[in-house]
Amino acid sequence: MKFETLTIHRGIQQTDSNRPIVQPITLSTNFEHGSGPMIYTRANNPNRAALEDLLAAMEKGADAAAFSSGNAAGTAMFQALEPGSHIIAPDDMYHGLAQSMKVLFAGIHEVSFVDMADLEAVKRAVRPNTRLFWVETPSNPLLKISDIRAISDLAKAQGALLACDNTFATPVFQNPIDLGSDIVMHSSTKYFGGHSDILGGALVTREKNAFWDKIRAVQHIGGAVPSPTDCYYLVRSIRTLAYRMRGHAQHAMILADFLGQHPKVEKVFYPGLKHHPGHEIAAGQMSGFGGMLSFTVKGGASEAEAVVSKLRLFANATSLGGVESLIERRAAVEGPDTKTPQNLLRVSVGLEHTDDLLEDLDHALA
Ligand SMILES: *Cc1c(COP(=O)(O)O)cnc(C)c1O
Repeated sequence: MKFETLTIHRGIQQTDSNRPIVQPITLSTNFEHGSGPMIYTRANNPNRAALEDLLAAMEKGADAAAFSSGNAAGTAMFQALEPGSHIIAPDDMYHGLAQSMKVLFAGIHEVSFVDMADLEAVKRAVRPNTRLFWVETPSNPLLKISDIRAISDLAKAQGALLACDNTFATPVFQNPIDLGSDIVMHSSTKYFGGHSDILGGALVTREKNAFWDKIRAVQHIGGAVPSPTDCYYLVRSIRTLAYRMRGHAQHAMILADFLGQHPKVEKVFYPGLKHHPGHEIAAGQMSGFGGMLSFTVKGGASEAEAVVSKLRLFANATSLGGVESLIERRAAVEGPDTKTPQNLLRVSVGLEHTDDLLEDLDHALA
């Protein structure tokens, strides 16, 4: 089945002989012994099983595990690693997961943050105990592109795992498993949910193996699992993911072109632009460039803040992937230790009409 078809037809477990078209929400936390495979909702639940089946199919994996947030999913990876492991992670990556590595695993694992777009730098960072290469492409918030195939070769040579945070691209545009990734991670809070009303995360594995058993143990025993209702709403939202993503990407390209020509804009970061340093690699591993972009405003933090305050349609809010357009000055969110430029604005391009979005930007930049 093609992606659009499987996202509509997978992710349903019939529990009712009337065969409803959508799966009912099974709120029960427990199940009668001896009646079926399910015992307790922390370990499994029909709505979570349906969601995990759908997620595995979308990312072409052997299995998927759903978590209560993207951070819980990413953190499960670090929990499942043998203590004393070395992780190579991007210098530009989702702030919350960098914090997980630095704060929660200080003294347990070692981490090197490197420019993953620079393969020589990645090679130089390898240590005898390197067990995990972590890739986020396009990255947050600079939209840097890393070459998943090339990093997968380095990981294989080292006998280490490669995990890819595919939140920005989504499987509509990029399948990390096809490109050599062992694990794919998602914040389902973003495009999967798509309407800024569900928190969730996921891991998808290329194969079921001992490491995956450990991930399942972290999920079941650690217990950072999504509620049956959240699983239901995620399946519902994913049904329209392909169509939403095409809209987001088309709109992002139009906005990137507009911003690139605006005299008040210093630089635009969008992998769909020909001059973007990762454009060639992105074109070789993605079928679309996604709905996220960043740009720097001429001047500093206050000039960038002034643009945000004049916008009417773009909400000044964190997060991304919803139908509504959002903008935020990332450095303000990431705090004093950030390397993100102070005049950088990150935009989650929504599905409003682009004429209205361009008019709003034009007015705010004037
Ligand atoms: C939001 C996000 C996360 C963390 O997900 P939560 O659902 O907020 O815990 C991880 N990676 C990326 C790229 C994200 O955008």
